[in-house]
Amino acid sequence: MITDTTEVFHTAISKPSIDEVLKRIAESAAATEHQPDGPAAEFKWLHECGALSIVLPGHELDFNLPKTPQLLRLLKDVGKANLAVGRIYEGHINTLYLIHLYAAQAQRERWYKEAEAGLLFGIWNTQAADGISLEAVDSGFRVHGSKTFCSGAAIINRALISGDIHRDGEKGWQLLVINMEDLPQDRIDYDSWKPLGMKASGSYKVNFSDYLIYDEDLLARPGTYLTQPYFNAGAIRFAAVHLGGAEAIAAHTLSYLKQLKRTDDPFQQMRMYHMMSELTTGQLWLNRAGKYYDRWVAAGTHDDALIAFANMTRTIIEEICLKIMDESNRCVGARGLMEPFELERLHRDLTFYLRQPAPDATRLKAADFFIQNDFSFDDDI
Ligand SMILES: Cc1cc2nc3c(=O)[nH]c(=O)nc-3n(C[C@H](O)[C@H](O)[C@H](O)COP(=O)(O)OP(=O)(O)OC[C@H]3O[C@@H](n4cnc5c(N)ncnc54)[C@H](O)[C@@H]3O)c2cc1C
Repeated sequence: MITDTTEVFHTAISKPSIDEVLKRIAESAAATEHQPDGPAAEFKWLHECGALSIVLPGHELDFNLPKTPQLLRLLKDVGKANLAVGRIYEGHINTLYLIHLYAAQAQRERWYKEAEAGLLFGIWNTQAADGISLEAVDSGFRVHGSKTFCSGAAIINRALISGDIHRDGEKGWQLLVINMEDLPQDRIDYDSWKPLGMKASGSYKVNFSDYLIYDEDLLARPGTYLTQPYFNAGAIRFAAVHLGGAEAIAAHTLSYLKQLKRTDDPFQQMRMYHMMSELTTGQLWLNRAGKYYDRWVAAGTHDDALIAFANMTRTIIEEICLKIMDESNRCVGARGLMEPFELERLHRDLTFYLRQPAPDATRLKAADFFIQNDFSFDDDI
């Protein structure tokens, strides 16, 4: 592969074992889409190869170390194997990162121990009109309302959700952790997920009403979740998963053309050139975004620049994915977009997963950064 993080990554984590698991995940992806429980087996394998605890203290991609380029590379590789698994895995990593940033010592120890033991974490912030509020009761808080787009709802053990709270004189958007095994199964609305793609992500609507939470389940204070640069700059993680999906499409397109002996055709060659150069551009953006992330979070001096770069990374990777899908579509034609070819599912999954919050506003925000600041991104990193 083409990024300069490859060598670091290979020496940093037990790659053969993760490689082996990702290969198995990719081979199972077509069948997994039709599994009622979703990718439960995949997360068992990811636990077995250490991927669920890889960011915890003492592990290869410990959040305390400047390893964001390598983490993005891993997220991309998981997305390449199966985008739905990549989506849920990214939520697990995101939740552990918020715990790393904001949890009290006792909470951190408890949740890290659970992640080490193979429990799967997820973060569900999106909601409709019937969103989450927390009512103070004698011993703690009673939850009211639902979340939508709860990826992995049927298999997640610890769900980090958010809701409105009035607590100790403070009002705001509070993070809290739900033990999913204490929530009755009928609270997951299995009819709520009929998407174009990403079926295996099982991103159902979940009703948390009447669930009781206590102080030890509350993560940080009201409003902490929105702390910058973490809130916006985290977009580079899902962009990495997206790019993995595009990488899978490029690889399957090339192998389809080879299978049909169509690689001598100059039009096909030109399209392959466009796909591979777009992919390389995306890999370069991701690598740079990871390096800026580590440097600027540590320095604490470039929050706005980091957010602008993350916003650009996210939107440029969206464009790259769209272009790669367009070229792939023309390369393989209708026959290549039918089962049993994997491209049928890969195109559906990536098309759907690319739809993330506020795509237009994200571009305008990045533009505003350059309008307000006399800033250019140096290339000495
Ligand atoms: C596969 C998948 C899994 C997901 N999993 C999770 C999860 O685990 N946890 C979680 O919290 N969320 C999850 N999400 C939700 C995700 O974070 C976004 O909330 C969701 O994708 C928003 O998509 P949307 O296109 O419907 O957004 P919209 O905001 O409706 O945007 C659609 C379009 O409308 C435009 N637009 C937005 N607002 C306005 C306006 N006021 N006026 C005019 N135009 C407007 C946008 O620019 C865009 O062009 C998931 C989403 C997907 C696709």
